[in-house]
Amino acid sequence: MRCEEDCRTAGLGKPVYVIWLIRGGGRNILLDSGSHLQKWFKYGMTDYLRPDEAVKLAGVGPEEVTDIVISHAHWDHMGGIRFFPKAIIWIQKEEFRYYTGEAWQKGGIHGGIDPEDVQELVRLNTKGRLRLIDGDNIEIFPGIRAYTGARHTYASQYLRIEGHTPFVLASDSCYLYRNLAEHKASGAFSEADYPANIKNQERMIQLAGSPDRVVPGDDALQFQKFPTQGRVAKIK
Ligand SMILES: [Zn+2]
Repeated sequence: MRCEEDCRTAGLGKPVYVIWLIRGGGRNILLDSGSHLQKWFKYGMTDYLRPDEAVKLAGVGPEEVTDIVISHAHWDHMGGIRFFPKAIIWIQKEEFRYYTGEAWQKGGIHGGIDPEDVQELVRLNTKGRLRLIDGDNIEIFPGIRAYTGARHTYASQYLRIEGHTPFVLASDSCYLYRNLAEHKASGAFSEADYPANIKNQERMIQLAGSPDRVVPGDDALQFQKFPTQGRVAKIK
């Protein structure tokens, strides 16, 4: 199920489309990159802000973004990779393999994947700007670890950020705070993956130390829970 349906079913109106900026250690790291075209307005998106403009609101130029971790290949998470000219792109090895191959073969699943994004991902790989993360519980930067298993897509991932208090940035591995509270799967790759998706919500809470420190992917509540200026919320 797509988030649009989940959010509306839950009476929460439209989802928000979020990118997360992690700063420190000389790096400006994005988790996800937003979407690249307004063609996706068919899903009801309004107030589109190009991802490179969005990071400027947080005081970072697009060329200052050093790395982009892609949680999964959906259009609203991978579409912005073309807007950050110096960034290294990080994605799960299995996610890359599936969506550049099998997903487009007979029986493959590629709903929500924009072929233009996949082509850009392959192009960036040929330019030496792609890194493949191989599996679960991998430290990709000091204090930042990638986790898999929620199966939102073929090999989606989420991050744990070690700060003076840790946070888990769930992206679409958990759409809404409500998913955490009600232990409901959010948009798993297939129905068979719902149990894994729910199990991973528990894991995210453990990794963060509290459900309050798991940040769901599409929930507008994060802009109420954390100090917000305009369209930027500071997670702390
Ligand atoms: Zn998604």
